[in-house]
Amino acid sequence: MRYSRFFLPTLKEVPAEAEVISHKLMLRAGMIRKLASGLYSYLPFGLRAIRKVENIIRDEMNRAGALEVLLPIVQPAELWQESGRWNHYGRELLRLKDRHGRACCLGPTHEEVITDLVRKEVRSYRDLPLNLYQIQTKFRDEIRPRFGLMRGREFIMKDAYSFDMDEEALDRTYQSMYETYCRIFERCGLDFRPVEADTGTIGGDVSHEFMVLADTGEDEIACCTVCDYAANVELAPAAAPPARPSTTAVVADMEEVSTPGKRTIEEVTAFLNVPPDRLVKTLVLMADGNPVVALVRGDHELNEVKLKRALGVEELSFADEETVRRLTGAPVGFAGPVGLPEDIRVVADTALESLCDFVTGANKGDFHLVGVNWGRDLKPPEFRDIRIITCEDPCPRCGGRIEIKRGIEVGHIFKLGTKYSGALGATFLDSNGRQRPIVMGCYGIGVGRTVAAAIEQNHDERGIIFPVPLAPFQVIVTLVNTNDEVMARAAEGIYQELSGQGMEVLLDDRKERAGVKFKDAELIGIPVRITVGRKVKETGEVEITRRASGHTILVRTEDVTEEVLNILK
Ligand code: ATP
Ligand code: MG
Repeated sequence: MRYSRFFLPTLKEVPAEAEVISHKLMLRAGMIRKLASGLYSYLPFGLRAIRKVENIIRDEMNRAGALEVLLPIVQPAELWQESGRWNHYGRELLRLKDRHGRACCLGPTHEEVITDLVRKEVRSYRDLPLNLYQIQTKFRDEIRPRFGLMRGREFIMKDAYSFDMDEEALDRTYQSMYETYCRIFERCGLDFRPVEADTGTIGGDVSHEFMVLADTGEDEIACCTVCDYAANVELAPAAAPPARPSTTAVVADMEEVSTPGKRTIEEVTAFLNVPPDRLVKTLVLMADGNPVVALVRGDHELNEVKLKRALGVEELSFADEETVRRLTGAPVGFAGPVGLPEDIRVVADTALESLCDFVTGANKGDFHLVGVNWGRDLKPPEFRDIRIITCEDPCPRCGGRIEIKRGIEVGHIFKLGTKYSGALGATFLDSNGRQRPIVMGCYGIGVGRTVAAAIEQNHDERGIIFPVPLAPFQVIVTLVNTNDEVMARAAEGIYQELSGQGMEVLLDDRKERAGVKFKDAELIGIPVRITVGRKVKETGEVEITRRASGHTILVRTEDVTEEVLNILK
C-alpha cells in the first residue's frame, strides 16, 4: 500500500473526547472516528487491525470444529418474549417497530435467534454436538458508552453457541472453548488471564471471563498470589473475618450521640474517634421495585452483584434521597438498622455477625448510635456474603494472599444449560427415542475491545506498538526524500520485494518532511520500519528499526528481505 494513496488521517493533537490511551491513540492513528455517542466508523487502518483479530478468532474457532454462520441483527420481539428476556433485559435492548407495527429489537446477543434456528432444524442426537458462531455487529444501548471501542453501543462481537446432548458433553465443549480462547488471546500477543465470573443476565451457572491485564480496565480481579485462583471481584467469595476479641465483647450500652453534619464514614469515624471496622454502613436500595436495606462494615464495600443474587432479584439500584428519608426518617448519611419498619428486608454482610458495640446511623438527622449490639438492641438480620473481597481477605481456595488487579474483559464464556432450550423448546430425541432439551453453552469475544486492549497494553509516549499478529501492516518503508530518484527507486524495490514475499507493507511515499514521516510511523506503531535515506546512495545500505525497542541496524538493500523475515518470525 502506498501511503500517498491510503486514507490515514493522523492527528498531532490529543483529542479532548478521549480519556484512555487506547482511545486517544486509535483516534490519533486514524483508526476510528466517532459518529455519535458509542458509534464509531472504522477507517482502513483500524479495520485492518480488526480483521486481524477476526481472522485469528475464525482460524481457532474453525480448528475447534465450530461452524460460521451470520444471523440477522434485527430480531422479532416474540422470540424475546418466549425466552422471558423482553421484560428483563432492560434499556440496553434497543426496541423498535417496523412499518407494520411489529415490535423488534436490535440484537445485543443472539441466544434467542440461534436457539430458534436450532429448534427448527435439530431432531436427533445424531445432529449433535453443534457449535455455531458468527462475527457480527451487536447493538447495546449502554448507559455510559466510553473509551472508544472499549464500550461502544454498536460493536463487533464474535459470539458462538454450542448444543450438546447432556451436561457431560457440554463440559467437554466448554473445556475446548476455554482452550480455544486461551490460544486466541495468546496469538493476539496479549497478557491475559481467565477468571471465574458472574453469569449476569445471560444466565447459566458456570462462566469465565478472559481479562487483559491493564490499569485502565473497568473490571477488578481477585488473584491469589499462591495458587492459580482468579475471579472477578463481583463473584469472589469474601469469608467472614475471624472474630477479634477487641470487637466482639459487649461492653457498652446503646446510646444516641450527636454527630452534627457528619455523614461519611471518614467524618463519623474521625468525629467519634472509632476505627471504620466498628461502623455499620446502612444502604437503602430498590430491588425489583421494593426497598431493601444492606448493611456492610465501614471499611468494606457493598457488592451489588452478590446482593442481587442473595435477594434473587433482577434489578437493583440505590434509592433516591426522598425514599431514604421516607423509610428511615433521616436524611442520607444518618440511616441505621435500629427501628426500621418491620416489613423492610434487611441483609447484613457476614463480617458483621460477630461485631459488637458498633456505631450506626440513628435514623435521625445529625445523630448516630454507639454501643449497638445484635439481639439486645435489634433483631439480627439475615447474614449473607454481600461485600467486595479485599486484599486483606484470604484466597477462597487456598487461604493465600489475594491481590486485586484491574482488567479489561475481552471474552466471556458461559455454560447455559437448558435455560434457553427449555424456554424455547429446543429438544432432540436421544438414542432411546426420549425427547430431551438440548444443553447449551455460549462464548463471546469483543473484537474491537480486543484491539483497544492490545493498544492499552502496547504503547509508549510516541504511539502504538502493535503486536505483530495484530499489526495492520508489518513493515513501513520510509522514503526520506521523494525527489531523490536513487532513494525512490531503492524504496520502491524493497516495497515490491517484501510485498512479493506476502508481507503487508506500507510505503511512505508522501511528499512530507522526513520528521513528519518518522513521527507518523511511530504513532501508527508498525512493527518494522525501513528507512531509505542518504546511505543508500553512499553505501547501498538502509536502516531497519524495530518499533518496540527502537533498535536500529544498517543492512545492505539486497539483505533486507532476509533480515525482515527474521525479525517477524
Ligand atoms: P461488560 O461487563 O463489559 O458490559 P458483558 O458481560 O456485558 O461485558 P458479554 O455479554 O459477555 O459482555 O459480551 C461478550 C463480549 O463482548 C465481552 O466480553 C466484551 O469483550 C464485548 N462487549 C460487551 N459489551 C461491549 C461494548 N459495549 N462495547 C464493546 N465490546 C463489548
Ligand atoms: Mg455489558
